[in-house]
Amino acid sequence: MIPTTTAPARTPRVLGRVLVSLLIAALAIVGVAVYRSASATVPTGGAVDGASQADPPAPDGAVTLDDGLLPSGATAFDVGYPGVAGLSHDLRAALQRASRDAADDDVAVRVNSGWRSAEYQDRLLQEAVSQYGSAEEAARWVASSATSAHVAGDAVDVGSYDAVDWLTAHGAGYGLCQTYGNESWHFELRPEAIDRGCPTPYADPTQDPRIHG
Ligand SMILES: [Zn+2]
Repeated sequence: MIPTTTAPARTPRVLGRVLVSLLIAALAIVGVAVYRSASATVPTGGAVDGASQADPPAPDGAVTLDDGLLPSGATAFDVGYPGVAGLSHDLRAALQRASRDAADDDVAVRVNSGWRSAEYQDRLLQEAVSQYGSAEEAARWVASSATSAHVAGDAVDVGSYDAVDWLTAHGAGYGLCQTYGNESWHFELRPEAIDRGCPTPYADPTQDPRIHG
């Protein structure tokens, strides 16, 4: 008797289970659809962020390390920088020897500027003309790219002031001489100075026959 009395009750239960299963399936489909629509926005947002994180293009004409620009603290041993690597071999070797001996006196010789590209030198000259108000006055401080010893790899501007003082006192022994009276930090190689001492500096670059001769 039990099968006959329970049989009619089974059908609604089965129908109920089927309906529940269909409902779960429907919710699952809706859920997947919602998930897909939500996740579809993620790549778009990610792409926007990625674009905003890209490096901005360098401004036209900007001077870079490849032009000889040097980071503060660079030394004669930092040959990874074009500004140091572009120096003539003998000048760099002399400055390295002097830097080692200066370090023994607790003086750090830094290279603020060494080799420069013609573009870098021309930029400095343009800035000097703006700063000093005339090409004539600018020429007392900055050479053109055609005449600059920096562009030729034959000059270094050193720092700090302690290093300038040290090289002023001892540079001749390494053939390192100040070239201009108004640029105490600017040194060039004069090998004969090792025996004869450094020649008297020109007052400024306009007195230099290599530039105006
Ligand atoms: Zn210089």
